[in-house]
Amino acid sequence: MKDLISNCFLCGEHSLHVAGTEEAQVMQCINCGYVTSTKYIGTIETNEEVKKLSSDMKKWAKEENGRVWIPSIITLPIGMLYPINKDNEMKWSFAPMVEIPEDDRKDFPNPQGGFYEKKIDTDNPQIYDEFIIGMSYVNDLMRKASTPQEPEIKFPKLKKRK
Ligand SMILES: [Zn+2]
Repeated sequence: MKDLISNCFLCGEHSLHVAGTEEAQVMQCINCGYVTSTKYIGTIETNEEVKKLSSDMKKWAKEENGRVWIPSIITLPIGMLYPINKDNEMKWSFAPMVEIPEDDRKDFPNPQGGFYEKKIDTDNPQIYDEFIIGMSYVNDLMRKASTPQEPEIKFPKLKKRK
């Protein structure tokens, strides 16, 4: 099924990607970085999924178009773009995927067996005021990573942050 691009209910830019079916639809804005899905129909007060979110995510959540919208967490092979609380303001952060030194891997057991070889390095994140700026940095990185396929935005899984 072809994705649709529409005007964002939050920021008004023509950058809202709509994907999926009517029963399981995801709407992701690549300008303001907010995302919603059919799981988030309702209000911040009443929606069950919202209750599972971190307090920061709850604080940043917005209600529009009969749904709750939350900031995206974009996970890519090269790293992760996600919202952070910086001096009580929401900013965007990019944390790169880094190789774990062989000697340290014993500290990163994989529940599926063995040990992780890579991790998201959140110790020295890049900070951006706007999602779109972080996203263009990520796209540049993807291009430089010489991946054979064109960089593309993956719809994030809406799972709770630990
Ligand atoms: Zn938007």
